[in-house]
Amino acid sequence: MTQFFAGLGQKSFRASQVMKWIHQRGVLQFDDMTNLSRSLRDELSVVADVSLPEIISDQISTDGTRKWLLRIDKMNAIEMVFIPEDHRGTLCISSQAGCKLDCAFCATGKQGYSRDLSTAEIVGQLWLAKFLLAEQYQTDDRIVSNIVFMGMGEPLLNFDNVIPAMHIMQDDFSFGLSRRRITLSTAGIVPAIDRLKEQCPVSLAVSLHAPNNELRDSIVPLNKKYPIQVLLDACRRYVSDSPRARVTFEYVMLQEVNDAPEQAKQLAEILADVPAKINLIPFNPFKGSTFKRSSNNRIYRFRDFLHSQGLIATIRKTRGDDIDAACGQLAGMVTDRTRRSQRYLKGHSQ
Ligand code: SAH
Repeated sequence: MTQFFAGLGQKSFRASQVMKWIHQRGVLQFDDMTNLSRSLRDELSVVADVSLPEIISDQISTDGTRKWLLRIDKMNAIEMVFIPEDHRGTLCISSQAGCKLDCAFCATGKQGYSRDLSTAEIVGQLWLAKFLLAEQYQTDDRIVSNIVFMGMGEPLLNFDNVIPAMHIMQDDFSFGLSRRRITLSTAGIVPAIDRLKEQCPVSLAVSLHAPNNELRDSIVPLNKKYPIQVLLDACRRYVSDSPRARVTFEYVMLQEVNDAPEQAKQLAEILADVPAKINLIPFNPFKGSTFKRSSNNRIYRFRDFLHSQGLIATIRKTRGDDIDAACGQLAGMVTDRTRRSQRYLKGHSQ
């Protein structure tokens, strides 16, 4: 932004003024930015544009979870979810329209991939949520306290747009979120984990989902490129400078696929020397999925075993399932450039 204003022959403080207008006061018309000169406002109206994703639908679940479907262009729409809890409010945002990774149990993966979101489309999600939630809750207090990149897409495959978006979220002139309150969730793009540490060391969540390569290859195909030990090395490097930091490992509980006691044992072994927190996610079914959610008994046994090995493990509470807003159910509307959705639907009609 500073560079942009330098290009117009303006002083750098114009950048922070405009950032505040847009992100703190919610003003989108240059004409209303009253501490800018008339001539600058006129010039900005010609050379720049502030636009937002368009809201297609806006639903609130019985448990307070709110989900939006947002149009980003003629062909694509993405989903965003807000999850209110007692002492925090978490916004789950998307980084791509669709996803290239095709994890076996994920609704977004089944849709194929269309395109990366721009930095503006990523930050625009937070902007919309912030001001719509202020209306809903009738307060200017910070309602979105945490951001998770757990919507549609693989954020580390859209690195160049996601990093500046996370910087804007942290900027004091815009949202001022601390880096620990932003969680980037990845299936494990190893080289990008190292670059993330250098450029924007936010909280890291890794979608592990299996305790050995054979099983992980079959449900997270990216594992063939970056196998478990290579991924865990990257995780150790990620937190190596901060003695108290831990990587969160997500583990979707799939009945009789990855939830047996023996698999809990393997998981405890591979994570024994990694600063880890394990988050067990009960599988959320979606149309056409063949997996089943593990029974509560199996989930508790799995967690209890991890506890007995001295690991930190929690079970993610499923929220918003009456409006299909639960983890892995985000589908949006994607023009599939990979044609994966066609192959998937064919496979299911046979
Ligand atoms: N591409 C990123 C973000 C994906 S979504 C990643 O892989 O981490 C966030 C989490 O939801 C991931 O851990 C993902 O594996 C999980 N998930 C996907 N489908 C799910 C489903 N149907 N039920 C429960 N969790 C799911």
